Amino acid sequence: MQLSDFPKEIIPYLLPKAGGNLVYRCLNCGEEYPISQFLYTCPRCQGIFMILDKDFDRLKDIPGGLWRKIFDYRKMLNNPSLKGIFLFHEFVAPNVPLEDIVYLGEGHTPIIEANDYMKKLIGCRFYFKYEGLNPSASFKDRGMACALSYVNYLIREMGLEDVLAICASTGDTSASVALYASALRGKVKSAVLLPKGKVTHEQLSQPLGHGASVFEIPGVFDDCMKIVENLADNYQVILLNSKNPWRIKGQESYSYEIAQWFDYDLENKVVIVPIGNAGNITAIISGFINFYKTGIINDLPKIVGVQSNHANPVYLYYLEPDSKRRVFKPVKVRPSCAQAAMIGNPVSMPRVIQLVEEYNDLAKEKKIFVVEVTEQQIMDFMLIANRNGHIVCTQGGESLAGLVNALDKGIVKKDEEVILNATAHMLKFISFQRMYFEDSFPKEYEVRPKEELINEPMLIRPSDISHFPDEKSLSPEEFKEFVEKMSKAIADCLNLKKK
Ligand SMILES: *Cc1c(COP(=O)(O)O)cnc(C)c1O
Ligand SMILES: [Zn+2]
Repeated sequence: MQLSDFPKEIIPYLLPKAGGNLVYRCLNCGEEYPISQFLYTCPRCQGIFMILDKDFDRLKDIPGGLWRKIFDYRKMLNNPSLKGIFLFHEFVAPNVPLEDIVYLGEGHTPIIEANDYMKKLIGCRFYFKYEGLNPSASFKDRGMACALSYVNYLIREMGLEDVLAICASTGDTSASVALYASALRGKVKSAVLLPKGKVTHEQLSQPLGHGASVFEIPGVFDDCMKIVENLADNYQVILLNSKNPWRIKGQESYSYEIAQWFDYDLENKVVIVPIGNAGNITAIISGFINFYKTGIINDLPKIVGVQSNHANPVYLYYLEPDSKRRVFKPVKVRPSCAQAAMIGNPVSMPRVIQLVEEYNDLAKEKKIFVVEVTEQQIMDFMLIANRNGHIVCTQGGESLAGLVNALDKGIVKKDEEVILNATAHMLKFISFQRMYFEDSFPKEYEVRPKEELINEPMLIRPSDISHFPDEKSLSPEEFKEFVEKMSKAIADCLNLKKK
């Protein structure tokens, strides 16, 4: 539809202009810094940043009902800059002009309801939001689209060229950095640090395929992170870990999309998300707060974070009910099938601590919870989900296992509707499925395959067939015999009835 065909009262809002008054704000000392430079931690106290729009209140001048129409009509526009996370431009990075936005197909992932069998099994109505359908097959693309759009804008403003983007990663961040940097070839190149042997082959193939410099580090993610931080402190690089607050801004779009999908009615809704470095849960909380403060949604959904008991520092922190007595202690991680969340010292913890309090205060009740799951549950529930029409990764299995435990503890009620974050595509973590089916998990994982969930290919090679086409080329008679006897063997195996 042409711009002029939209309703008159909406047209002035459809194409957003660059605006806002954004600053980096240190969560530790409160100091603010201009965003015209690349900064990741507070130069004064090393604290972590959030991006603050000091003119946020201007967004309240537009009534919630009008915002809802703006976003819904804008979704019909065929402008690539606004097709992804920047549909919510005013809330994501309003300083970035439309011409600088990098859009590779991220965002607006579908929310797919569980079938009747699954709902009965689990005990409530629930959905998966498929973050695996983003271009690099994980939710990381949301943050990267925002961060690289901002970088692209600064490059043009400052006349930079060939800047180096760098990250440490449990696999998916590097895939996403490499993809977006490769789209900006000539302006941005990328280097990624990965813990050797602790990312899947599929994940490793992604940055290699997109042409990044890939460094394997003998250690775990937390070790890679320390090196990257040191590099960012001492060399001219752009750090793209979720320490970078632009990523959080992009990932807030996840919440905006949930609101839009449910026609902005979030009463009785619960959002469940696995926690690793805690960037995702930070963004989800922050996103819902922004929409709530501007009257776009009237209810704050319940949010449940999930951690494996092999990497559970956030869970342990919130075990202490008295907020004044809570002390954050990093943990030493053990091998986890939810490998992308296998992080013992989450970078965004200070953000989480602050935002959880703000969220609960706004809601006037406790709305954020953290539950723990076992490795066995992660695997079993991932396989069960995928046997019922889904495409979830191990972290998606972790979300579902988290729902089971949250129902069990009474944190989620049977009459609530739950949206589970399926953070990546099942194929990225398919090696865990293989270990399950082959019963080859190293014992530290503490996973025992359940017979009824194992599925393996069956070789059919009946002994009454004289020749097979993988040995020699068959004569017409031999080939006929081969087809008929093979069909019979498969039909017997499947208990098929004759027509
Ligand atoms: C990064 C990642 C996580 C963890 O998200 P955080 O923002 O680090 O908490 C979970 N699942 C997948 C697939 C990921 O790539
Ligand atoms: Zn500071």
